[in-house]
Parts: sequence; C-alpha cells; structure tokens
Amino acid sequence: MRLNCKNPCRRRAGVFAWILFIGSFVPCATPGAARGQQPPQQQAAAQALAAPIVVDHGPNSAGQQAKHYVILVSLDGFRYDYTQKYDAKNLAALGSRGASAPDGMIPAYPSITFPNHYTIVTGLYPEHHGIVGNAFYDPARKQVYSYHDPQAEADGTWYGGTPLWVLAEQQGMRAACFFWPGSEADIQGVRPSYYMKYDPKYPNHKRVEQVLAWLQLPPEQRPHFITLYFSDTDSAGHAHGPDSPEEAAAVHEVDTEIGRLEAGLAKLNLPVDVIVLADHGMIKVEGDWLNLDQYLDASLLEKSEESFIYAKSEADATKIYDSLNGKSDKFRVYRSGHVPESLHFDGNPREGDPLVVATGPYLLRASAPPPPSPAPPNAAANPAMMGHGNAPPVGMHGYDPAHMPEMKAIFYAAGPDIRTGVKLPPFENVNVYPLIAHILDLDIANLKTGPIDGKLTVLQGVLKNPH
Ligand code: AMP
Ligand code: ZN
Ligand code: ZN
Repeated sequence: MRLNCKNPCRRRAGVFAWILFIGSFVPCATPGAARGQQPPQQQAAAQALAAPIVVDHGPNSAGQQAKHYVILVSLDGFRYDYTQKYDAKNLAALGSRGASAPDGMIPAYPSITFPNHYTIVTGLYPEHHGIVGNAFYDPARKQVYSYHDPQAEADGTWYGGTPLWVLAEQQGMRAACFFWPGSEADIQGVRPSYYMKYDPKYPNHKRVEQVLAWLQLPPEQRPHFITLYFSDTDSAGHAHGPDSPEEAAAVHEVDTEIGRLEAGLAKLNLPVDVIVLADHGMIKVEGDWLNLDQYLDASLLEKSEESFIYAKSEADATKIYDSLNGKSDKFRVYRSGHVPESLHFDGNPREGDPLVVATGPYLLRASAPPPPSPAPPNAAANPAMMGHGNAPPVGMHGYDPAHMPEMKAIFYAAGPDIRTGVKLPPFENVNVYPLIAHILDLDIANLKTGPIDGKLTVLQGVLKNPH
C-alpha cells in the first residue's frame, strides 16, 4: 500500500508494522505545508519541529472508512471546576453542545498522569493495566519503569490491556496519537499508524494543526481515532497552585486550543466526536516534603520509587509496616491484601508492600533524591515536582479521589454521536473506554487481554444511538 502524503518524502511502500522514522523535520500531512511553499520564517520554525512517526498498517478497511471519528483530548491536571472558575468559554460551549460532568470525572488511584491516561485508553484500573505510577519498580523484572526513561516508555512489555489505538489498528482502523502515555510503545507489537515522540516544548497550536492535517489525509490513510495532549494546566498547578493567575492563564491557553480545534473541525465537514477530559485535578499542598525513610530501616528496602516501598522479604515488609504504622496522621499504611477495596490498588507487586496513602494534601515520598539531584531529561519543561527554585510544589495531586473532590477531572463530549445537554453525575474514568469503542464500533467483547473494568452502561446515556 502507499502513503499518499503530499510531501513526497513520506511516500513509502511498506511492510506491516514497519516504523518509518522520518529524517526530514517538515511537519507531515499538512496540506500545502511542503517546505518550498512557506515563507522563510515559517520554514525555520517548521524545521525545528519533529515530524510524526509513521507506521504502515495498510489502508483503513472499507468498513472502517465509513465510520465516524473520535478525537480524545487530555488537558493534564484540568480540575473539574476550572471551567467555571476561570471562565473557559470554549469548553463551556462544548459542554452545552454535548455532554459534560459538572461535578467531575473520578480518576483512578493514584490520581497521577501515567496511571490515569493509561486507564482512560484501556478501561482498566492501574492494578490491572500495570502502569501503577509515573515511576515504579517491578520486583519480578527487577527493573524500574519511569516516565523520564524514554526506553522504558517505548517498551510495550510494561503495558497491559489493549489501548484504544491498538484496538483500532487490530481491527483495520487507522489511529494517530499526538502524545499520550504509552503511545510510543509497541504494545502487543502494535504502535499507532501516526505518533509523536514526546516533546513538552512542541507548540500547542502546532499540535492542533497536525491533528487537523491528519483528518485531511485521504480516506484510506485518515485516522479515525486520534489523541491530543496538553500539559499547561498541570505544570501551572504544580508551580503556582490551583488558585493562581498562572493557572488562570494556562486554562485560557488550552481553552484557546480547544477553540482552534473546533474551528478547524467545522471546516472539514467530517463526523467527528470530540472528547475533552483530564487525568486528575489539583490541590494546594500543606507543608514540605515528608520523607518516609525517616521512620524505617533502609536496609530492609529492595527499592523505593516515588512513595512506593518494595521490601526485601515478606518479613521485612512486616517490619516496615510496623515502623510506619501510626507514626503520622498524614498517612495510613496498608499491607498488601489489606488495601481498601475502593482504591482498586491491591495485588499488583508493582504497587509495593506496604502501601502508604496520604490522608490529606501532603507531599509524601519514600526518600529525598540524592543531592545534587541529576536533572531528568525534560526537567526544564516539567515542573511537576517543584515550585519556584528548589521550593516544594505549590499544587499537587495523586491523592485518593474518594476523599478529595479536588482530584476530580473535567469531562466533555460533543459531536454527531452525542446527545445535547446531557449532564452526568461523577463517574469513574474506566468507563470512557467502552464509550469510545461503541462510537467507533470496535469490538471489545473478546479482548486478548481479558475483560475491562469499565462499563458502557455508565455513559450510555450520552449516546444518540445507545445500542
Ligand atoms: P505528573 O507528575 O503526574 O503531574 O505528570 C505530568 C507530566 O508528565 C507532564 O508535565 C509531562 O512532562 C509528563 N508527560 C506527559 N505525557 C508524557 C509522555 N507521553 N511522555 C513523557 N512524559 C509525559
Ligand atoms: Zn497529569
Ligand atoms: Zn502533575
């Protein structure tokens, strides 16, 4: 098969799942955006941007070409009440045109980025899909997964479940990811037909332009499931807190991009459902970092990552539990097998043992990073763990959503398959997967990776054609 991209460098007769790393830095699939057609300044800007990576899965099957499109947009850390609090007009309009959850969508525990993005695209709780943290240890593999490690991030063997882009590709439907945790990995040996290497500095409006360009590809190559991601609201929340003018500015920035996307889609005349959501909310923290290792004998630890503790043995886990239990009212400690059911966070060895759960907006971690802390590769653009200078962050998330409403996220959906004016009560984000699979008419009854945790019945009410 042939990729009919306007840029001749992208034409490629391919082999199934052959990954084409484009040497050129011209943005792909932008009609009329070939290098020679741009003024010099724009050429310079375009040259600095990486092109999408193209994986040749063949054309959309005839059946898939007739189907609708879904764009799944994540605004990282966009708390459920920010739309009203900061008057985000485009998101509010999306909600009026379609469905919304005014009191929020409930994230999975822990309410952090990688576990929740991956829950949204697999319909599984983190304990079932295995991405239990942004960073965690696997005692069986004796390896660490970290979102700062591009090699781990791209290694499909870390990821359970069947993400929506894999589901689509396996059923002959092309998919594209403009960033999403997991989207760079060969999960079940499958990557999206089009995806990007994560670059937090990639300009937001260019992300939107690329998504619109993908939708202008010829029908055989045009992706029907597309992800899009913006980090602004999360970064501002950590650095300045949820009530800051910087957070207001970040909300307006991403809301502007939603407006840009909607305006672009209006010109395309395609049946596109847009779902805009977030992975979690944000809360102003109380106090400084609390290092758990002050209470315990470090020689009992095989490893620790973030606030996860991995004991050398069962007996050592008991000793660690005993030394942590009751030491502070800022956290509770649970042995594996005794974690409250509502957390859905028990029984996966990657979660560690014992598990420490914060009781309020406190900054828990297993230990302080060794001084001087080596900066992670994208540290400059990722202020997730810091406030100003070396100060602790002002805002944080990760807490139990059942006890902290500030962890709830936005959810909006609008388009040809969505009823107008539906207001949803809070629901868990595992239920988004069956909704999208239903809209795209993808079969999730016989997943190789087993049944999902989400249920279509929870969001069926938003659909014009629920059956
Ligand atoms: P958190 O620490 O949970 O607030 O994580 C948010 C951070 O995750 C963002 O600031 C991004 O830098 C980072 N991030 C989001 N998506 C990706 C990705 N696909 N690959 C690597 N890092 C990511
Ligand atoms: Zn996040
Ligand atoms: Zn964050």
